[in-house]
Amino acid sequence: MPWSDEQTPLAELKDRIRRFSAERSWARYHKPRNLAMQVSVEAAELLELYLWSADDGPQPPVEGRSGKVEEEAADVLIALLNLCAVTGIDLCAAVERKLVQNAEKYPVEKAWGRLEKYDELSTPILRAEPLWPVPDLDEEEVRPLPERDERDPEPTRKARPMPGPQEPGEE
Ligand SMILES: [Mg+2]
Repeated sequence: MPWSDEQTPLAELKDRIRRFSAERSWARYHKPRNLAMQVSVEAAELLELYLWSADDGPQPPVEGRSGKVEEEAADVLIALLNLCAVTGIDLCAAVERKLVQNAEKYPVEKAWGRLEKYDELSTPILRAEPLWPVPDLDEEEVRPLPERDERDPEPTRKARPMPGPQEPGEE
């Protein structure tokens, strides 16, 4: 049966990846340090496909790259599963634990719609402007905030235009 996210357990992928390596006598090189580097290298290859692409999509803008995204995503997972197999990490259990930790660090009522790190969430949301300067913003690109959202604990706010780039010496 072909593999799919719905039906293939991670244990089966781990076994196949380890067998693939063993058949080529590569397992001896697969020390945790090397595999951790491989995860990073493959993640960088995935990121490279988006290099210089537009922030507002569609991404990637270069025709023919979309198939490569799938390949590099697979490379990242292969490297990660290999690392987990070698180090004895039960990845599903680790993800479960991490999501519990993340839910504690980012409770919905504090973190909803926000980009800050967990230790920066104590300040109230007062701004309608973006979190970072947006250079060369056209008027048409200024989108008003949505009216009050049921999940947003803040009262309805009037949208303010986002500031343009600052002139030198401007406060
Ligand atoms: Mg690759």
